Amino acid sequence: MPRSVLDYNIAASADDKGGVGLKTAIVTGGAGFIGSHLVDRLVQQELHVVVLDNLATGSWDNLSQHGPDAVTRIQADVSEPWPQEALPSSADLVFHLASPASPVHYRRLAVETLMVNSMGTKRALDAALSYGARFILASTSEAYGDPAVSPQPETYWGNVNPVGPRSCYDESKRFGEALTMEYVRKHQLDARILRFFNCYGPRMQSEDGRVVPNFVRQALSGDPLTIYGSGEQTRSFCYVSDEVDGIWRAAITDGLAGEIINIGNPEERTILNFAEVVADVAGISLHVEPRPLPPDDPTNRCPDISKARALLGWEPRVPLKDGLEATFRYFRTANHR
Ligand code: UDP
Repeated sequence: MPRSVLDYNIAASADDKGGVGLKTAIVTGGAGFIGSHLVDRLVQQELHVVVLDNLATGSWDNLSQHGPDAVTRIQADVSEPWPQEALPSSADLVFHLASPASPVHYRRLAVETLMVNSMGTKRALDAALSYGARFILASTSEAYGDPAVSPQPETYWGNVNPVGPRSCYDESKRFGEALTMEYVRKHQLDARILRFFNCYGPRMQSEDGRVVPNFVRQALSGDPLTIYGSGEQTRSFCYVSDEVDGIWRAAITDGLAGEIINIGNPEERTILNFAEVVADVAGISLHVEPRPLPPDDPTNRCPDISKARALLGWEPRVPLKDGLEATFRYFRTANHR
């Protein structure tokens, strides 16, 4: 299968100079969707990457382009004690991405989601502390819940149902943020928290239930696009190579201990409009099938990325249509439908 490291990296950053001297990175969840693209980027930056993943929602197939010299694979649940014998003797960066992220998956794996974002985060923080490594927490726009302000700046505290069907994800990510901040305060850990907004691209699982794989799969099979609720709810879609570029910059920029930074695309659109763009890219006429709105589905979501612009010199560059075309190319291959 022709999947070179940069096949899908349609906006590789020109800013590849940072990170000199970094040798080893640990990525929890590195076999997942965003994680595997991050691993590609780290390998491209000449780091050796150690991936810990229990393959609950990821797959080693996502890393098949890397040999063992570049990437060490450890199949382990990061909520449980880490297998010390398999870990590297030193590490410069610890990225904690392990967690189900699709609403369908985190409902199915609700307790596991709570654990990986609480105990898993603690184990990842302790690993970073013992290595003297920098720590990067993958948090989420779900920390804002159903936001009452738009766009959402990092200073917004959110509007989260603490006991609803999404709370296993929202609240455990918020706990992970709180824990990370205590490691910054108590142990002076050099940690930064990134809040990812809706990210899409190749290597999303076709059956993960999120709107991008659903619409792309439905468009390819000639099925109507399933619109939940009125379709007037909004989201902002960031292509994965942009996302990874933001993560990389946040990892190599000095002086960010304790900073929280939104990483997402500020182009907000309704789900109905998103369906129109998908149909357009697929070259089909739009047919929709209304479905009930899931409980607590956020009405709107749009990142304020002023802070990412100022601190990282970062903003997304891939237009939605280009990103969707790359995503369609991936889903068209038989293995991914
Ligand atoms: N959605 C939809 N049709 C689908 C899947 C999702 O209309 O087939 C809607 C969903 O209700 C939500 C938005 O698309 O408002 C994004 O859903 P997704 O599951 O991708 O992620 P979320 O942003 O809710 O975490």
